[in-house]
Amino acid sequence: MPATPLHYPVAWGLSKLNKRLNLPGLIVGSFIPDIEVPILFLFFNIGIDNHFILHSLVGALTIGTLISTLATVLLYPILASLLFQLDKAKVKEVCKLTPALVLSCLLGNVFHILLDLPMHPYSLILWPFVDPNSIVGVLVLVFAVDGDIKRGFLIANILTNLIMGLFMVAIVIKSRRNLWEQVIVGK
Ligand SMILES: [Zn+2]
Repeated sequence: MPATPLHYPVAWGLSKLNKRLNLPGLIVGSFIPDIEVPILFLFFNIGIDNHFILHSLVGALTIGTLISTLATVLLYPILASLLFQLDKAKVKEVCKLTPALVLSCLLGNVFHILLDLPMHPYSLILWPFVDPNSIVGVLVLVFAVDGDIKRGFLIANILTNLIMGLFMVAIVIKSRRNLWEQVIVGK
């Protein structure tokens, strides 16, 4: 997977594409699917490579959106003020429960799965309807020289992280005035 924070540029990009979307909701939504990775790794032996229901569309549209909405409304303002010294009341105002916030959380989850898709040799996107191993990412296939899927995965992984990292740097440079306010709250 792209390292979880490297999903950020997609959230940021969506918030710029449609100003009615909510940046905190998009950010939290785009991070939430990966919370299952350590949980599955530590406690359960299900899914593939510690991906399971939160990496499926079924999960993203239900439990993923629900967790993200709760986290954005209840936790985000606290964390934003604690970690980045932002005005809690202002962040709370941006994070209040609205249809746009729920939609942003949902889109964050869905785009997380879509970004994971091309670079994995499997995908739970259509779980439980389609075998995850039958969905091989297009980037993996492109770089699977001599059919070496492992190598394809490695190169696709590095490339995706690199591209997202570059986007991240560009966003930081573009937002350098008032950095935290712009990248955490979006207004
Ligand atoms: Zn993921």
